[in-house]
Amino acid sequence: MSTDELTLAIDAAAELIAGAKHVVALVGAGISAESGIPTFRGPDGLWTKHGEPDLRDYERFAADPKGWWEKRISGAGGLGELIAALEAAEPNAGHIALREMEEGGWLAHIITQNIDNLHQRAGSVHITEIHGNRTKLRCIACGNRWPLDEFPIDELPPHCPDCSGIVKGDTVMFGEPIPKDALDSCVDQTWKCDLMLLIGTSAVVYPAAQFPLDVRRLGGKLIEINPHETPLSGLAEVVVRAGSGEALSRIVARLREIRPR
Ligand code: NAD
Ligand code: ZN
Repeated sequence: MSTDELTLAIDAAAELIAGAKHVVALVGAGISAESGIPTFRGPDGLWTKHGEPDLRDYERFAADPKGWWEKRISGAGGLGELIAALEAAEPNAGHIALREMEEGGWLAHIITQNIDNLHQRAGSVHITEIHGNRTKLRCIACGNRWPLDEFPIDELPPHCPDCSGIVKGDTVMFGEPIPKDALDSCVDQTWKCDLMLLIGTSAVVYPAAQFPLDVRRLGGKLIEINPHETPLSGLAEVVVRAGSGEALSRIVARLREIRPR
């Protein structure tokens, strides 16, 4: 995309956002790449470099929750590179622009597949986390959540103070069902939305991949913000081929010109 084409795409995206009633952002790992957190897919993705992970995580947790917790506490296993990056990460211009869009009344809700807590740290308020949040724990029976540092762990596995269910990290594992409250909220937002922004997601992971298709089916529009092509590119009204930091900050700047706060 040339400089002129990019400017035209940014203007077109801002016009669509300014004219929409209920805008929802569907966000993937790409937005946090500029915070130093590697994505899984794509040229520099962890899976591209190290191979696909074992998809039986949740099965193994369910068979031996105590063993899973012992491993977690000892720091063994897992993607060390990803964990180190998550711990060092700060919100970037893309996260901040989404918070500014919400404050300006241009963005109603964020559906994120990320677990990194960076939307919250940037100050966004209306957020649904499909894959959980790495700074929380969750009861697998009743779904209650607690911040990690507020939950005393005096037995392994820990049990829920409300229902005695087993407590695990809130991050959704491979093979684990998406928590019902999160899924319900995504469906609700998909139905309400007349414009969905697809930001830094390759849109191949279900259920997230389904929401943009539903938005289209219900008569809504899509804008894609991603430096690379995805399976949804052809369905988008406007495609902004740039990193999310630059693209979103420029869209916010344009929105302020079109409709000042
Ligand atoms: P994904 O399938 O959504 O792919 C990442 C996308 O980001 C790709 O389409 C890529 O082109 C795009 N991208 C790369 N750099 C970008 C930039 N600067 N701006 C905008 N887009 C950019 O995600 P995945 O990596 O395959 O991850 C699969 C699952 O694991 C998802 O649920 C994902 O959110 C999760 N995950 C989360 C984190 C995190 O919490 N930060 C990190 C890795 C993976
Ligand atoms: Zn419980």
